[in-house]
Amino acid sequence: MAKPQSDHDRKKQISIRGIAPVEDVSNLKKAFNRHLHYTLVKDRNVSTQRDYYFALAHTVRDHLVGRWIRTQQHYYEKDPKRVYYLSLEFYMGRTLTNTMVNLGIQSSCDEAMYQLGLDIEELEELEEDAGLGNGGLGRLAACFLDSMATLGLAAYGYGLRYEYGIFSQRLENGWQAEEPDDWLRHGNPWEKARPEYVIPVNFYGRVEKTDNGSRWVDTQTVFAMPYDSPVPGYGNNTVNTMRLWSAKAPSSFNLKFFNSGEYINAVIERNVSENITKVLYPNDNMFEGKELRLKQEYFLVAATLQDIIRRFKSSKFGSRDPVRTNFDTFPDKVAIQLNDTHPSMAIPELMRILVDIEGLPWEKAWEICIKTCAYTNHTVLPEALERWPVHLLENLLPRHLEIIYYINFLFIKEVGKKFPGDNDRVRRMSIVEESDEKRINMAFLSIVGAHAVNGVAAIHSEIIKHDTFKDFYEMFPDRFQNKTNGITPRRWLVLCNPGLSDVIADKIGDAWITNLYELRRLERHISEETFLRAVMKVKQENKMKLAQYIETSYGVKVNPASIFDMHVKRIHEYKRQLLNCLHMIVLYNRLKKNPNAPFVPRTIMIGGKAAPGYHMAKLIIKLVNNIAKIVNNDPIIGDRLKIVYLENYRVSLAEKIIPAADLSEQISTAGTEASGTGNMKFQLNGALTIGTLDGANVEMREEMGADNIFIFGMTVDEVEALKVKGYNPREFYDKSADLRQVLEQINSGYFSPENPDLFKDIYNSLMHNDRFMLLADFDSYIQCQDKVSATFKNPLLWAKMCVYNIAASGKFSSDRTISEYAREIWGMEPSDFKLPAPHEVPLETGPIKK
Ligand SMILES: *Cc1c(COP(=O)(O)O)cnc(C)c1O
Repeated sequence: MAKPQSDHDRKKQISIRGIAPVEDVSNLKKAFNRHLHYTLVKDRNVSTQRDYYFALAHTVRDHLVGRWIRTQQHYYEKDPKRVYYLSLEFYMGRTLTNTMVNLGIQSSCDEAMYQLGLDIEELEELEEDAGLGNGGLGRLAACFLDSMATLGLAAYGYGLRYEYGIFSQRLENGWQAEEPDDWLRHGNPWEKARPEYVIPVNFYGRVEKTDNGSRWVDTQTVFAMPYDSPVPGYGNNTVNTMRLWSAKAPSSFNLKFFNSGEYINAVIERNVSENITKVLYPNDNMFEGKELRLKQEYFLVAATLQDIIRRFKSSKFGSRDPVRTNFDTFPDKVAIQLNDTHPSMAIPELMRILVDIEGLPWEKAWEICIKTCAYTNHTVLPEALERWPVHLLENLLPRHLEIIYYINFLFIKEVGKKFPGDNDRVRRMSIVEESDEKRINMAFLSIVGAHAVNGVAAIHSEIIKHDTFKDFYEMFPDRFQNKTNGITPRRWLVLCNPGLSDVIADKIGDAWITNLYELRRLERHISEETFLRAVMKVKQENKMKLAQYIETSYGVKVNPASIFDMHVKRIHEYKRQLLNCLHMIVLYNRLKKNPNAPFVPRTIMIGGKAAPGYHMAKLIIKLVNNIAKIVNNDPIIGDRLKIVYLENYRVSLAEKIIPAADLSEQISTAGTEASGTGNMKFQLNGALTIGTLDGANVEMREEMGADNIFIFGMTVDEVEALKVKGYNPREFYDKSADLRQVLEQINSGYFSPENPDLFKDIYNSLMHNDRFMLLADFDSYIQCQDKVSATFKNPLLWAKMCVYNIAASGKFSSDRTISEYAREIWGMEPSDFKLPAPHEVPLETGPIKK
């Protein structure tokens, strides 16, 4: 029986992490010392904390390698169907702690570092976030990778290895300033470059017609260099691969210039093509029709499809099975999931490969393409839908444009057949939009070229069927599905909230980690006061820790007994951070008017990045900070109301703050937020939600019951009705004295005395040009917030509601989401099969066969 090496009384020792076996701790210490010496080439006299982080990262990485190789060998032997998740974004965050959690070596590593005199939490903080995403869409891709590995699916994430991820946000005098995210500066211990597998990707050129088809010629080639990162499943010894492509100029690049004595310039020119993967576009829910972005999208698709087809053809069974050369079984062996339309050039690219290169007849190729591809829609906001100008495609990808035209030609014919004489419908549905500037509608292309189209929450999937893509739903009713988003409980509970994880495990064991519906069992303990107290004690500890962080980071002292009210997500008008601002000002005005009236203390925290070119979003950040300055420094207010802007919101910050939240703000205009996933993270961590009936909030209410969530505002139907009737902000302004006061304060410079006109754009937007109808929901929001405060005064009731929230979060595990994708879209079956651990399989040591 193993026993702890030392008896220091940190709570990690007695937790779901288990105890650290003496042998393991000793081996970890040896490996750590070996890496410090041989990998980092340092001795302890000159080692920095960062060196220790890297030594630990390499030590942990060693535990992945055997499992990684064995998993890939296993896939080769068994040749199961593969799923390829194509995404321009993977918002992974940090890897070290997640790896230790999923491999079950957290307590051993912790003990090993402790014995070496190092603070493991301090080392964990030195890891850079892999910020290769903007927000929800990119984080979803990361949660899906975790779930696919945990469910034992033969899955691959394919994306781009941006040298610069999402910018780092700094506040300068309350304004957002962007700094480049040089995340690879110190090297990335989690990736393995695979230069032996580089793949050529072509651009530009022209189309040549031959006797037996078309050829794309005179192209410019850029190489795609794969970098692989391990994706460990939880406790099943599976390690999948995330493969990210980096652009590399071929060595023959600009050969003609080399020969003409332009050697130096030719080398410098190589940079231009390598710029393709330089930087992530920082827009969330916003289409920006830049050529470089189109290059990125095609670069991902072209490299990935070649890789997929190479793997299909090189199957162990391929040489014996001639079927593998005629592509009939391709859809039985390959599923391709498109994360939004960003990788939707996969459809014409697959057609080009099958028809132009493999020589398949169009009809056969089209059937394969549809059976293989599936498309996830992430938004109904028109400004976010990708519609590429034809002139860009004509220049960059001429053959693909031809193919898209032909797909459209055949499709339009089918529409005409199904709806004879309905010319308006045919015009509306054309993939090629004939406006003053011709454009390709990538969502239309994706629906036509895929066998499944899904929204990301029930309400959103209904909206795309009956509104956004109504015509397409009528054409292809069987293609449309719903797959409500989810989050991985490993990162978003076990990793980020060990205290709560332990309290839960004490009550119901730990099966919930891979079957989150198990949390329902907590409801049986809802009347045990000791349990409720334990839950609230953990929350209080998390709040104290965050209060400490806020004081050291921003110099603001917050009251840990106040409601921690959090609104963190990308800054966007549809997410209505401004509505939250109106509430802050209402509370401030109440306190000023009646300083001695009872008041439930609040700390309102807002965090999130604005796209650098989004004027209104940046002005909203400035407004929050200016309100904060006035409120926080008003002695009459004291510690009863504080406003904090959480700078540089990102995955690792989300992990720190969400466990400390009492209240989660999910207040988008109904019908605008496709799902939201931030809402789910808060619920799982025992925060209550104030929200509209939008996105996944609707399903959260179903799961936890209407009594356990604060719902306010218009429904989608009411929003639609008001649009039809005509939204008149003045009507709401005239009705409410509180609202008038707040708006006039914003307009007159109360929060910007040095520049009274500063926030006029915000006032004018709210009063004259507001697509998101803030004022229509104002009254209902304020009333609902008052109900929140009243409820918070009853700690026992609040605690019960928190437990009901946690108990009801089972549905929102990304394991559930991925199981549904697997069965209903990919034709795959999740499994709880556990591969043998590496030590159960000896290393190969005999002579190497030629
Ligand atoms: C989960 C998450 C998001 C998505 O939040 P929403 O509230 O669903 O928009 C964005 N950014 C980060 C860093 C996240 O972890």
